[in-house]
Amino acid sequence: ELSGKRAVVTGSNSGIGLGVAEALAAAGASVVLNSFTDRPEDHALAADLSARHGVEVRYIAADMSDGAACRALVAAAGGCDILVNNAGIQHVAPIEDFPPAMWDRIIAINLSSAFHTTAAALPGMKAKGWGRVVNIASAHGLTASPFKSAYIAAKHGVVGFTKTTALEVAGMGITANAICPGYVLTPLVEAQIPDQMKVHGMDRERVIREVMLLRQPSRQFATVEQIGGTTVYLCSPSADQVTGTTISVDGGWTAL
Ligand code: NAD
Repeated sequence: ELSGKRAVVTGSNSGIGLGVAEALAAAGASVVLNSFTDRPEDHALAADLSARHGVEVRYIAADMSDGAACRALVAAAGGCDILVNNAGIQHVAPIEDFPPAMWDRIIAINLSSAFHTTAAALPGMKAKGWGRVVNIASAHGLTASPFKSAYIAAKHGVVGFTKTTALEVAGMGITANAICPGYVLTPLVEAQIPDQMKVHGMDRERVIREVMLLRQPSRQFATVEQIGGTTVYLCSPSADQVTGTTISVDGGWTAL
């Protein structure tokens, strides 16, 4: 149902971004994958997605910590009908020990990149009278935890930026929304499980239930497929009047 639409998904050579790209390709959109690397395996991901879904998929390297590179990504894609701002990194430290350079980097990748890509993408969307901006925020865009100050500030910022975007394009056929996932089992999260098992002396199932999913009442991870499906819903006609809001996919985290 998204045939004829072009999607740009930032930070999409793994995890949630790749899951979202997969869902959009399966729905018929042509897709631009992105990360900061430019390896043969990045381009192979695009070829694989294209072959499996029969849509055009390209990989374009661009560093989302660099505002000019964010804008250049959208330009190199030839503009986009669907923009998914997903690139993000995390760093965990108390505020007084938080490296200032890491603070700046997280704000740049997790928040400012969305400003730059959105600024580059909106003129084309306005010209066509149709567009979708989907920002991958987090449960941490709505609520906080200690030691993740930059990430939480950036994700709250993304939620605010999403609302402003929605207001500026309201009535033009363009919507802007933020998806707020709780814990999603991505390679990034999977890699933490063995360490947590060691630190806590627990088996895999206990670490997942009692440590990692402590704040997720369902005690179940969300999946990249579910974030992909939520994105496709936001791109569907059912969501034409869904704008400037957040959709939590967090097993009840933010209901607590
Ligand atoms: P991930 O590490 O698998 O994916 C992050 C992606 O961003 C990767 O493709 C990486 O290459 C890319 N990236 C990192 N720095 C970049 C840069 N400078 N330029 C371009 N691309 C860059 O992690 P993920 O879990 O899939 O996270 C994706 C998004 O979802 C992030 O914004 C994250 O904050 C958010 N999120 C994740 C979870 C979770 O539990 N996994 C929960 C809530 C929100």
